[in-house]
Amino acid sequence: MELVISNLEKKFILGDRTVNAVNNVNLNVSDGDFISIIGRSGSGKSTLLNMISGLLVPTMGEISLDGKDISKISDDELSYVRNSEIGYIMQGKSLLKQLTVIENIILPFYLFKRDGDPLKRARHMLEQMEISHLENAYPSKLSGGELRRVAIARALTNSPKLLLADEPTSDLDKKSTLEIMKLFQNISDNGTAIIMVTHELDTIGFGNRVLQMDEGNLKEKTNAAIA
Ligand code: ADP
Ligand code: MG
Repeated sequence: MELVISNLEKKFILGDRTVNAVNNVNLNVSDGDFISIIGRSGSGKSTLLNMISGLLVPTMGEISLDGKDISKISDDELSYVRNSEIGYIMQGKSLLKQLTVIENIILPFYLFKRDGDPLKRARHMLEQMEISHLENAYPSKLSGGELRRVAIARALTNSPKLLLADEPTSDLDKKSTLEIMKLFQNISDNGTAIIMVTHELDTIGFGNRVLQMDEGNLKEKTNAAIA
């Protein structure tokens, strides 16, 4: 997997006001990279991940995943890439409330036929997240931490080459946070590239690169600058 982001921009136009949410971002990500993105609220972190996941169309620039610009391919091709190559743990709630936990997790497999047994894979991920007992529960009955675990299980069920995680441990206690970070480190060691937005200092040490988002601009930080 090779992700090359060049001159990426997103502007939101609100009446007569323009918000430059993401400004001229350039970033190269390779297999096994584990990137932490820090930065204050409103600096453009979620907007950046939404564009990389293909949910949001950039105003300008390119997002090339294995040589294909995902902001310019057809909707069908984009759905395929999103279902087979990318896992996205979104900020906030992302589960469908009419579906049970297990149904939420395997839904993408019905939209796009894939090899393997989705139910088996989904159950394996629930086990890994220690929420097997919640398989048939509806999201409204779950705590914030449980919902978070389901979202993580769902994002990992297709064994993505690229994992995008937007504050993935924000609803979790310290012990659970460290468990999730160890899981991320493990999948990163196995070649999955991870781009994680985080507020928590506990989590930054797990990655191999730290970047800072500041008013839409993304800068790589050296170890000296973090300490
Ligand atoms: P972060 O994730 O770093 O907190 P966001 O990417 O959510 O920041 O937001 C960056 C900026 O873009 C903020 O000023 C925010 O208000 C604005 N923004 C984000 N999404 C939208 C949207 N859909 N419409 C208008 N403005 C938006
Ligand atoms: Mg955000």
